[in-house]
Amino acid sequence: MTTVADIRASLDTWYPPELAETWDRPGLVCGDPADSVSTVACALEATDAVVEAAIDAGAQMLVVHHPLLLRGVSSVAADTPKGRIVHRLIRSGIALMSAHTNADAAVGGVNDVLAELLGIRVTGPLERAAVGDNPLEGIGRVGQLDESMTLRDLTARVAERLPATVWGVRAAGDTQRTVRTVALCSGAGDSLLEDAARSGADVYLTSDLRHHPADEHLRAGGPALIDTAHWASESPWCRSVADRISAAHDVTATVLDVRTDPWTIGIRREDI
Ligand SMILES: [Zn+2]
Repeated sequence: MTTVADIRASLDTWYPPELAETWDRPGLVCGDPADSVSTVACALEATDAVVEAAIDAGAQMLVVHHPLLLRGVSSVAADTPKGRIVHRLIRSGIALMSAHTNADAAVGGVNDVLAELLGIRVTGPLERAAVGDNPLEGIGRVGQLDESMTLRDLTARVAERLPATVWGVRAAGDTQRTVRTVALCSGAGDSLLEDAARSGADVYLTSDLRHHPADEHLRAGGPALIDTAHWASESPWCRSVADRISAAHDVTATVLDVRTDPWTIGIRREDI
């Protein structure tokens, strides 16, 4: 019999909690470690639609990337958006566990899954982990593309290989610039713009970039930028964690077919 504790132990081995940022709160959110598990559902975050799909899938455990309760809470009353989710999970006998910045930093985690999908051979992290002695652990990655290509062609590759989103993938910089060395950070990575510039990368790929940081970075001579939807850069990890769980335990592990990208429409003038 596989228990919630068994799955938690595997997740903590693959994505060591000590690699998490100090502000982060990954781990078991609700659920009894002693409960048995035969089906695990995986998603990027626990939304109402995700919990509904996890119930439909017959899951006893839901594994996500983004922590449901990141900041301190004083109530999980069922008439609050997050409390409603906690109640529904507990009443449905579903444990909830997240692996967040620990999964970003770990070897084989979110950033390595993204790099592999894009044909990038990783040489190291963009910023080394503050703990542990594995030089490959840390936030973001730097690596080499399997072939040199223009910024335009790499942007097209990213759009082709990541899950589709309503506004696609955008890039900043000379579109014909040849790129080979790539810095990347899954999820919101504008705090690493300077690290990306120092890494010597030709291009930095991340999500949630804003006008002023992007503009100032480019004018300072930094690498070209590729900006994807946050959901798109991280959700490929869900398949990876589901495959690892089903390989390591006698359970069914599935990726829920629920898009949790908050953006639902993207219109360009020429589309009107
Ligand atoms: Zn994220």
